[in-house]
Amino acid sequence: MDDAAAGLVKKSRAVEQDSERIARLKERLDRTLREAAEIEVELSRVDGTIRGVPHYSVIEGRAHELGKQLSQTVQQRQMNELAADQEATAKCPTCGTRCPVDTTRRRLQSVDGVAYVTESRSYCLGCRRAFFPST
Ligand SMILES: [Zn+2]
Repeated sequence: MDDAAAGLVKKSRAVEQDSERIARLKERLDRTLREAAEIEVELSRVDGTIRGVPHYSVIEGRAHELGKQLSQTVQQRQMNELAADQEATAKCPTCGTRCPVDTTRRRLQSVDGVAYVTESRSYCLGCRRAFFPST
């Protein structure tokens, strides 16, 4: 097998591993969402939100609140991971000087509610301006 063929085989195995991992993760997410739905239904009965045969809007409202909560959690997690992967310094977009990167936590108002996210920020002393480092 020449180098080009060996490269194709290696790439094909990587794609196969990725698709197996994607399938595993989707299955795990599906299972976890079903479990979350089960807990939500049990919780709504125990806390008294759902009693007897409620108007459907009550059921839908509770479900929607859970969806918003999940959205906020995903947003926080995504932003925290981006900040954690950020390098210690970043190039100033104006002058190109490498500047230290700091992380700050801030309250973000999203369409699904408030999310507390970690953001990377940098400040260029030469240009006297703050900027968001690009990855
Ligand atoms: Zn600068």
